[in-house]
Amino acid sequence: MSMTLSAEHLIYAMSANHPPALHVPDGATIRVETCDCFENQIVRADQDFGSLDWDRINPASGPIFVDGALPGDQLLIEILAIEVADHGVMTTGPGLGVLGDELAQNAIRIVPIVAGQVHLSDTVHVPVQPMIGVIGTAPSPDVGPVSCGTPGEHGGNMDCKRIASGATLLLPVNVAGALLALGDLHATMGDGEVAVCGVEVAGSVTVRIRVLKGGAWPVPLVFDDQRVSTIASAKLLDDAATSAVHRMVRLLETECGLDTASASFILTAAGDLRVCQVVDPLKTARMELPLTVARQLGLTLP
Ligand code: CA
Ligand code: ZN
Repeated sequence: MSMTLSAEHLIYAMSANHPPALHVPDGATIRVETCDCFENQIVRADQDFGSLDWDRINPASGPIFVDGALPGDQLLIEILAIEVADHGVMTTGPGLGVLGDELAQNAIRIVPIVAGQVHLSDTVHVPVQPMIGVIGTAPSPDVGPVSCGTPGEHGGNMDCKRIASGATLLLPVNVAGALLALGDLHATMGDGEVAVCGVEVAGSVTVRIRVLKGGAWPVPLVFDDQRVSTIASAKLLDDAATSAVHRMVRLLETECGLDTASASFILTAAGDLRVCQVVDPLKTARMELPLTVARQLGLTLP
């Protein structure tokens, strides 16, 4: 069963209060159309930041109600394909990103995307490596709504470049139906997202969604054909990094029967602790373990 959700259904916070934009059965394949993180408001490099409606930033398309998903379950999202528009947008300025203290004025670039290449300038072209910046489920009602600009246990603005085509993402189900939403595609992005943006782009994502009844994986969790990664967000990058490591150790203890010391030796020898982003209200890190190692440990992913 295949269906489409248009980019007219936008939310700006992940919340249990939003009415579903679409109901889908467990196992459905859905093509989700998305705006860029400025809701496609930036069309020229000389545009005034002040002309933008800053209440329409980081929209996510959704939410999608998945039949049968109940609190205590987990949602498994296979990212089957990501398509991006023929141009992206990059912005930075005073107070934005890591270099915000060095910038005297706002800067905007319109970035052509041609034949699978992102034209960062006339002479610098890099391959399109599309990824999803914002993807999450509704937080539980006692947590309350979380802005789509903020990452957390529910997913959200993780800006993790492993959340890409071919990857599978696991998220918690905190409310009936899960209320999945996604947006903020990047045609490509480097770890850290240091300028406060990736190559921001409109597009569409085709996902297949399954409910893992009673799933107990450390979420958010993402894996592809190369590696499995635990993701964590916190006010300080140090805390996000520590938390990502702890989550992977829990996974290795629970799924592979390792003791803590053995798990820590595996990660210190063969794992990679990486930065997702350092520019959002909470910072995000991930602990990666190659599947070549995970398989030797007997890890079976869902
Ligand atoms: Ca983002
Ligand atoms: Zn973005």
